[in-house]
Parts: sequence; structure tokens; C-alpha cells
Amino acid sequence: MHVAIVGGGATGIIAALYILRNAHASDQVTLIDSSTNLGAGVAYSTTDESLLLNVRALQMSAHADQPNHFVEWLTSHKHQPDGEAFVPRAWYARYLQDTLAIAVSQSKAHYTCIATTVSDIDPTNRVVICADGQQFSADHIILALGHAPIANPLARWAPTPQRMLSGYDWHTIATKITTNDDIIIIGSGLTMVDTIVALQNHGHRGKITAFSRHGHVPQTHIPRQSYPSFITSDHYGWSVRDLMRLVRTEVAKAQAAGIPWQAVIDSLRPHNQQLWIHWSLREKRRFLRHIRAHWDIYRHRIAPQIAAVITSTSQLTIGAGRIVDYHEHAATVSLTIQPRHTHTTSTLSAAYVINCTGPLSDYAVIENPLVAALRHRGIVAADDIRLGIAVDAHGHLCDQDQQIIPWLWTLGPPRKGYAWECIAIPDIRNQAATLAHDIFTPATPLS
Ligand SMILES: Cc1cc2nc3c(=O)[nH]c(=O)nc-3n(C[C@H](O)[C@H](O)[C@H](O)COP(=O)(O)OP(=O)(O)OC[C@H]3O[C@@H](n4cnc5c(N)ncnc54)[C@H](O)[C@@H]3O)c2cc1C
Repeated sequence: MHVAIVGGGATGIIAALYILRNAHASDQVTLIDSSTNLGAGVAYSTTDESLLLNVRALQMSAHADQPNHFVEWLTSHKHQPDGEAFVPRAWYARYLQDTLAIAVSQSKAHYTCIATTVSDIDPTNRVVICADGQQFSADHIILALGHAPIANPLARWAPTPQRMLSGYDWHTIATKITTNDDIIIIGSGLTMVDTIVALQNHGHRGKITAFSRHGHVPQTHIPRQSYPSFITSDHYGWSVRDLMRLVRTEVAKAQAAGIPWQAVIDSLRPHNQQLWIHWSLREKRRFLRHIRAHWDIYRHRIAPQIAAVITSTSQLTIGAGRIVDYHEHAATVSLTIQPRHTHTTSTLSAAYVINCTGPLSDYAVIENPLVAALRHRGIVAADDIRLGIAVDAHGHLCDQDQQIIPWLWTLGPPRKGYAWECIAIPDIRNQAATLAHDIFTPATPLS
């Protein structure tokens, strides 16, 4: 059997680990990535060691059945072997590369890695078509395409803004922005946090104004505490409103007992996917509209050291509002916002805007050439909530006629519409484990 994995970010590598582990001597595994920096992708490509993981080392093992694997790697590399620590993201790509090398050496299968971009897949013979002209057929193809580019929040005023930089592109930020430049950041989530830490490292002194619709900033991790799970399968299908009421009651109960809210939110973790899956489309929309902005900051928290950098950045102001106008001049931009709950506007001026609004997720419009080609062929469809690719419970793609494609799979960020909570490493490794199991022990073998 030949399994091709398209995308060698963290998800592609973790998928490869499980495929290699399950494969037999007659099997072939091909990993294709546009870059040669495997495992890096968007999250772990930084070389800036002050940018830390948002998750404790103990929860970052690539192997679900070896929870200490990453911590042991840290020990063997003479890094602080503390499982509770938040270590540099740059180390994680190296960890994944080392782990892949070991998996390749221990696997019976034949492994190939190709550095190129996949531009199309011909479904008739399951042929992977690369931009450099290479082509090969595979029995199973796994799309580990990761995060799409960040959406342009200024599209209405500037379809291709020249003075807006991507919050994912630290290299350009560091080369273009000078120490005294005033900066506007759109978005106040994890990408804004990264950007501020990176600017601080470069000794930035200019004024930084960040804003988002709600102006919420990620909360901080505290030492872990457990809280007894209060959710059971009986709660699956409860409305968003009833569940949120229950969560608020539990938070109040916990706090009265001296237990922080963080423990209550963390206790939901094993149920988050099922709660989402059981909601109707209407309830999912309700959650996105009313709860998401709060959920994101309470659920996806930052390391205390990172929070300290944010609070000590005296030139930073964070506000809430919506964009109402934008203009670019020779060396500056002016951006007008309407602050939340007001009818007034205020115009900000800066050298650059940094876009930290998060990746596009609507696969009906994403312009990535591979996605566009597969959409054109009818084998990629947006899921009904427009957060990812339409898939079934196993991660098979569902085509535009809603038929399952048994040989075409995805995992990681493109599964967000189906599973909601599926982009952190603990979720990705679980998906990879079941996906590899499904490929090598299928309920219905491919014809
Ligand atoms: C800034 C940031 C910090 C994060 N921190 C954490 C954390 O601390 N802990 C945690 O658990 N999770 C964290 N996450 C979650 C993160 O989403 C996942 O951990 C993981 O990085 C997702 O990896 P990926 O491979 O799916 O996507 P990406 O990182 O987007 O990688 C996709 C890869 O696919 C390749 N590719 C795409 N299209 C093609 C094509 N057509 N042909 C060939 N190659 C292609 C790209 O070159 C890229 O290498 C973070 C995310 C971000 C953005």
C-alpha cells in the first residue's frame, strides 16, 4: 500500500509517525511539503526562543501512548526537563524532526520525503500532481494542509494593502518595522501576543495600538488544579445557553471552594468535541456568535512569562471596536475605528498595520492552488459551518455531492468544522492514531 501525506507541518509529521508505525514491509509512505523545514509549519517555524508553547511540555508528546516522550526529548537535549514548563516553540519543530527520523529508522515501510508543492490530485487514479511536474499514484492520500493564510480584514478599503503585514510572518515584521514606528495591530488573541513579544525582543519603543471587536486578551495559565468532571454524555445535545449556565454555576461553586475557573474550563476538555458534534447547525452558529470570543481567551491561555511581557509593555493599548475606514499614504496608514458600544469614531495613524485576525477557514473561497484545484474537481467542499473541509467522523473527505471519499483524508485544522477542538497537538495525535488504524485495518477495504 502507498500512503501519501501532503503537508509536513506538525500534523503531517504526527500523521507520518502513526502511518510508519502501522505500515508493513511492502508499504510505501511519501511525505510531501513545500518547505524543507519539516514539522515547523506556522506554529513552530520561529527561531525566536522567547516565543513559548501555549501548552505545557507534558501535554505536547507526539505519541499519545508515551505522554513523557517530549519531556524525555527535552532531557536528552539538556533542556529544562520540567513537564509543567512552557518551552520555546522553536524546540518543538526539532523534536518532531528527531521523532520522525527515529520512526523512519524503526519502520519496516519504505519512506520518501519530497520537498515540493502539491498542486492537484487526479481522483481517477489517485495521482498526486506536484507543481514541479512530479506525479505518482497512491492508495491513500492524507491532506495535512494546516492553517490557511490570514484573512484580509481591510479588503473593503484595500484589497492588497501594502502596509499591512501578516502576524504569522515574523521575519517580515522584524525586517520592515523600525524601533520607533507606531504600529496598529488588528486582533487581540494569541497572534497579537506573539507579535508583541517579538516586537519587545527587537527593543521596539513605538506606540502599539491593538484592537479587536471585543478587545479580549488571552488569559494566563496558572499551576494546574483538577476539578471533577460535571459533564456526562447526558449533556450532549444541551443548548448552548443551558450549557453555559451550567458552566457558570460550576465556576461559582469552584471559586467558593477556592478552586480557580481555569480548572473548571479544563475539566470540559474531554467533552468539547462531543458537545460541538451534538449541536445543531443553529446552536453551533449561536456558540460562534455569542460565546466564541470568550471561549477563545479562557480556553486557549498563555504562559505566565508571556503574560508578564504583555502587561509590562507600557506603550501598548488594547481596545474594542470595528474598522470603519482605512487609507494608505506614502509612509503611514490611517485607520478609523468605531469603539465598541459608542457611536463615535477615532482615527489612528501608524507606520504599519499588523494583521493578527487568524486564518481563513472557508474552504469555499480559500485561494490555495491545491484547494482550488480540488474544489474545481468537486472533491473538496466547505463544511456547513465554514470552519474547515467537509469530512465524516473518520476524517474522510466528503465530496460536493456529500459522498464519502474512502481514500482521501484530512486531519488537524481542516477538521475544525466537524470537531471544533482539533488543532492542538493532543487532538492531532489522537486523530493521527485513529486515522492510521482506519487505513491499515479498514472496515471496508478499498476496491
Ligand atoms: C502561532 C501558533 C502557536 C501554537 N501553539 C500551540 C501550542 O503551544 N500547543 C499546541 O498544542 N498547539 C499550538 N498551536 C496549534 C497548531 O495549530 C498545531 O499545533 C499545528 O501547528 C498545526 O500544524 P499543521 O501541520 O496542521 O499546520 P501548518 O503549521 O499550517 O503546516 C501545514 C504544512 O503543510 C504544507 N503545505 C500546505 N499546502 C501544501 C501543498 N499544497 N503542498 C505541499 N505542502 C503543503 C505547508 O508548507 C506547511 O508546512 C499553535 C498554532 C499557532 C498558529
